[in-house]
Amino acid sequence: MPSIDDLVSVAEAFQKSPVYIDRDRCVAVRNRNASCRRCVDACPCDAIEVMNNEITLDVRACSACGACTAVCPTGALVPLRPSDDDLFDACVQAAGASVGRAVIACARISSRREADPTRYAEVPCLARVDESVLMRLAAEGVREIVLVDGACATCRYRAIDEGVNITCGAFQQLVGAQGAEIPISRTSAFPHDMLIEDATGLFGTTRRDFFSETARSARDLVSTAAKAALESELADAKELSIGARLRAGENGALPTFEIRRHADIVNAMDALGQSVVEEVVARVFATVEIDVEKCNGCGMCAVFCPTAAIKRDERKKPYTNPEYLEFWASECIQCNLCQDVCWKKCLKVSPVVPTKQLFSFDPVVFDLRSSAGASKPFGLGSS
Ligand code: SF4
Ligand code: SF4
Ligand code: SF4
Repeated sequence: MPSIDDLVSVAEAFQKSPVYIDRDRCVAVRNRNASCRRCVDACPCDAIEVMNNEITLDVRACSACGACTAVCPTGALVPLRPSDDDLFDACVQAAGASVGRAVIACARISSRREADPTRYAEVPCLARVDESVLMRLAAEGVREIVLVDGACATCRYRAIDEGVNITCGAFQQLVGAQGAEIPISRTSAFPHDMLIEDATGLFGTTRRDFFSETARSARDLVSTAAKAALESELADAKELSIGARLRAGENGALPTFEIRRHADIVNAMDALGQSVVEEVVARVFATVEIDVEKCNGCGMCAVFCPTAAIKRDERKKPYTNPEYLEFWASECIQCNLCQDVCWKKCLKVSPVVPTKQLFSFDPVVFDLRSSAGASKPFGLGSS
């Protein structure tokens, strides 16, 4: 159990930073050959540094926009203000007050106090909005989504404007794949029916505090504190190998985890209905192809895959020379780590995913028995 000291130290960290870094989820921490730098590329403030199996955030440089959290495939960057659940709840309440129209506005336009604050959800920047919250809203039955900005063109962080368009496009792809039609639009003015002469009185006491203390936040805090306690137990963590620090299992593979946002997207798609297209192209999904003739069966892809989307055949012990690799498209987050660590260059990650694979109960199986022959033991060999 976390101690009071742990809780206090995590609470202090939360106060200081709008983003919690769950570093062991970052693929660049898991392996230094990882090519992912989506957070670094998305950050308009150069506040994130990724190198030598480490990721750091300069809290003083961070503008709290949340752009990094929207693009991180692994959930290593957790937005705190607002959290995903707080934002979703705020959107649902706002949609309830607007006959199913979910309006999300950035802090800049919100600060002008022109519109009824009970009818929109506020984010620091629209770049904070990711596909999972939009898909959850779609599954919840909203009829339309409107993103209102304070005129991105004149904002000092306008470089991330394109990222918002990419998220909107990805959302349209995903709902369209399920045959649903939920329009999403961007505008720099609140819809007319939301405008009120003087909204000042509605802010403060009557305004919902989206980012307030909630039971959920408290629960998150405790679980994060538990993690912090674990980290402090491993005070000399930097001295330990990645495998030891992340506690590789007996099969040599690093621990895997569920990506909540990813699961939310798959579940929302399922709730919207059957796929009406053969393939879906999105940054949140991928499929892999392995050239089994070239593959030497080292299993490194399965060792480092953070979600167990690639698994080795575990019937054979000791864990050497897998005869099969299994791939589950529904678990793959397009982090590209398997491709980055494959030293035979026989594995390719593709963003074009057959919808049948995505919703299949069976994995794609790669038979390695005719492969180039396993020459390396399965386990953490290079990080
Ligand atoms: S919240 Fe925005 S400014 Fe802060 S690290 Fe992330 S992308 Fe950079
Ligand atoms: S996994 Fe996330 S935190 Fe790590 S480099 Fe990629 S985007 Fe950044
Ligand atoms: S299969 Fe590859 S791209 Fe997909 S989650 Fe695993 S390591 Fe990442």
